[in-house]
Amino acid sequence: MKKALSMAGKTRQRYNMAPSFSEILSKPTVFADRNVLSPHYVPETLPFREKEIQKIMEGVSPALKGERPRNMFLYGKTGTGKTASVKHVVGKFDTHNTAAGKAGGAPSTSRVAGNAGLARAVYINCRMYNSRYRVIQKITKELLPELDSMGFGLAMLYEKMASEVQGKKLHLITVLDEVDMVKDLDDLLYTLTRSNDELTSGSVSLIGISNRLSFKDQLDPRSKSSLCENEFVFPSYTTPQMHAILEQRAKIGFKPHSIEDGAINLIAATTSAESGDARYALRLLIKSGEIADEKGLKKVTDKEVEDARRSVDRDVAFEAISTLPDHQQLVLLAVAALALDKGKNTRLTGGTPEEDDSFLTSGEVYEEYCKVARRFRKPRRSARWYREYLNDLEMLGLITTIESGVGMRGRTRLIRIGYSASDVKKIVEKNFSIIEAKD
Ligand code: ADP
Ligand code: MG
Repeated sequence: MKKALSMAGKTRQRYNMAPSFSEILSKPTVFADRNVLSPHYVPETLPFREKEIQKIMEGVSPALKGERPRNMFLYGKTGTGKTASVKHVVGKFDTHNTAAGKAGGAPSTSRVAGNAGLARAVYINCRMYNSRYRVIQKITKELLPELDSMGFGLAMLYEKMASEVQGKKLHLITVLDEVDMVKDLDDLLYTLTRSNDELTSGSVSLIGISNRLSFKDQLDPRSKSSLCENEFVFPSYTTPQMHAILEQRAKIGFKPHSIEDGAINLIAATTSAESGDARYALRLLIKSGEIADEKGLKKVTDKEVEDARRSVDRDVAFEAISTLPDHQQLVLLAVAALALDKGKNTRLTGGTPEEDDSFLTSGEVYEEYCKVARRFRKPRRSARWYREYLNDLEMLGLITTIESGVGMRGRTRLIRIGYSASDVKKIVEKNFSIIEAKD
């Protein structure tokens, strides 16, 4: 009998040996093509974004006629298809360019008909290139790939960029995605727009994109007016729209009949009600499939969607907390520590304020924050800043706050953690111990 058993299966398990690649690859799965469910995949068509795509195309089209396009500013919540739409347009722009530029232009650069100029669109993710220096360096690198710009100062990079634009009579469109991540944004916008006053031929224009609706209020009036020459909002997806987007992906991402309609309905309904965020919806879709695979199921059901939601929410909170500035993390740690101290609120998310008494007062959290700051050797910030930090944390859903009724001590803000206190504590302490270790 034993002889009949191959290396695979029981024998392998018994001897605790690692599986072979063929065993791993032959594992049953609900996925037909996981790549199409990944957030980086740009689908061929973007339903419900035709109008937005057309507006962006019309906006950039002057460059193809040898004119400077007006700057553009696109905003809307996370996952409303801004990046995908813009990449779509940049792709079309490049295709048009290569077709039009067959006569001689470099790939993705076109000779503009009837005018000796060229057009070029450069996409920059400002999460990665988050300062004026880095953005200008990236643009220069895109325009002059052979240039070794290591060690160049800003002025030198700018000169290179400007002389390339001028020399080639280039109409350059810089797409600055998540533009609010740029630390010295006013300086960057000033540098890019100013270049047009100096250039005698060619032009530089920009498309700024942001997930934060209120961000432009923080800009210099001058930056604001230059960036927002032409602006529009991407609306959040409604339930039927989200459903259609998910169905389109699921059709190619999953094997036939391996996800229940009810599961897609559930993802569409919950995500559109909460945020209209297609990225989050797609994350739930892929995670639900992974959970079904782990359980060896043939079909994804509501149950897997619910499990996926818990798991994805944990990941999202982890990412949100880890990218917060230091003091916001410390305030959050103070909330978590107090919540744990009181032995309360270790659930994932709580009910309404009437249902439990797990709220902390703003005063006690501030006191705890001061202690926490001392522990990590960070000079504590004033109460005014502290209130700002609370607003930031609340906006991210990491805490909820309510105004108390008029009590003995007057009105106060009551705070409750929006997430598992012990998880939050672990995440922040880990982040800070890494920082401490680096010091
Ligand atoms: P944003 O930049 O607004 O945060 P993205 O463009 O990154 O959003 O979109 C998030 C995810 O949702 C991406 O994977 C994208 O492909 C997908 N997506 C967004 N809108 C659509 C749509 N209309 N049709 C299909 N997929 C979409
Ligand atoms: Mg984006």
